[in-house]
Amino acid sequence: MTPQQVLSQFAASGTQTCFHDRHISPQIYAGLDGTNWRLKDYEARDGYQALRKVLGKDGGPGMTRDELIATIKESGLRGRGGAGFPTGMKWSFMPKKETPPAYVVCNSDEGEPGTFKDRDILHYNPHIVIEGMIIGCYAMGVHVAYNYIHGEIFQVYERFEEALEEARAAGYLGDHILGSDFSFQLYAHHGFGAYICGEETGLLESLEGKKGWPRFKPPFPAAVGLYGRPTTVNNTETFAAVPWIIRNGAKPFLEIGIGNSGGTKIFSVTGDVELPGNYEVPLGTPFPKLLELAGGVRHGHKMKAVIPGGSSAPVLPAAIMMDIKMDFDDIAKAGSMMGSGAVIVLDETRCMVKSLARLSHFYMHESCGQCTPCREGTGWLWRMVERIEDGGGRDVDLKMLDEIAGNIMGRTICALGDAAAMPVRGMLKHFRDEFQYHIDHKSCMVPEYV
Ligand code: SF4
Repeated sequence: MTPQQVLSQFAASGTQTCFHDRHISPQIYAGLDGTNWRLKDYEARDGYQALRKVLGKDGGPGMTRDELIATIKESGLRGRGGAGFPTGMKWSFMPKKETPPAYVVCNSDEGEPGTFKDRDILHYNPHIVIEGMIIGCYAMGVHVAYNYIHGEIFQVYERFEEALEEARAAGYLGDHILGSDFSFQLYAHHGFGAYICGEETGLLESLEGKKGWPRFKPPFPAAVGLYGRPTTVNNTETFAAVPWIIRNGAKPFLEIGIGNSGGTKIFSVTGDVELPGNYEVPLGTPFPKLLELAGGVRHGHKMKAVIPGGSSAPVLPAAIMMDIKMDFDDIAKAGSMMGSGAVIVLDETRCMVKSLARLSHFYMHESCGQCTPCREGTGWLWRMVERIEDGGGRDVDLKMLDEIAGNIMGRTICALGDAAAMPVRGMLKHFRDEFQYHIDHKSCMVPEYV
């Protein structure tokens, strides 16, 4: 499919497939249509053709490791888990020499509030992730990989296990894949729902059978990762984009996106919209278009604010959001982040103090407790916001909230500390008046809606 075809499909995506409360416009991810694709369904839609091309089993010459990494670099594929790090660059950090064992891990521990894209990919089209992982491992000279799946979506884990069985039986996994020299095994592993296991080194600890405590860095996983060996961790959606790039080429993928960010992105749109769901759109799509796809703000209400990249992303007021393009750089320029692509819309009926109290409670609950600023600070943040919400706020509280958030940021082992602090600072920056009103009037300035 050419970029023009993909873009015109996007333009025509008023007729999207709907399943449950989810909506995905079929593009890069091979057209998730709400049915559980088995191997034969995936193969009928060019499934595993990219792998055949890489291994030279399509009548072509095959691809070398260097060619593959160069292709992924050129495509502008950036990690879809949150950080947006260039995938080809990450792959190139793995040792050139195949001194086994090195590992690859797919991070399917999707636990960011508001995010539910990876579970749909894994549920409806698990083979696209398997194919992407095989190709990625071939490029990195890795022969064993794991997919770590969030524990609260156990049925997705079971579904992925079934897909692995199908792939093994068909010769896509195991010794001498498709008669080539490349042997590779892939295993699924499920967590138990701890948010912190989505942090890549916490995930590796958990995969090793230990408590999911994030590690000090450096050393980074590319040098010392799973079982102390070089390891690359990529997000589910990142691997799922790989087969399309190999089949169609790096340039077409790059052209679908914007600037140096190639391809489409699945945004999980929730909150106060008419049609919450997953929407796959080209990176750089204007936010108003995404909002329109999600049916607009519910009940004809006015939009007040948007959390554009999952609960840890600083909130942005509606007026700023309506001028934003949905890509890593534009959202960062506006003072927030695209994160995992969870877009939470808040309408005029929402109290920002109450909203922040909920977010702060989540981070306090999920802190692993290793570092003092996070362990203690997340609790302070929650208790203070909760007290303001309850009408017990004091004049010094807003300054203190800001200071506590500032004392957490950049002073912890992993990014959860920052994730807890950033929403606080975002709320105070853009909606300070609501917090002040709560303190001054011991009540909420948002009128009660039925
Ligand atoms: Fe644990 Fe929080 Fe420290 Fe991360 S920042 S290691 S979650 S205490």
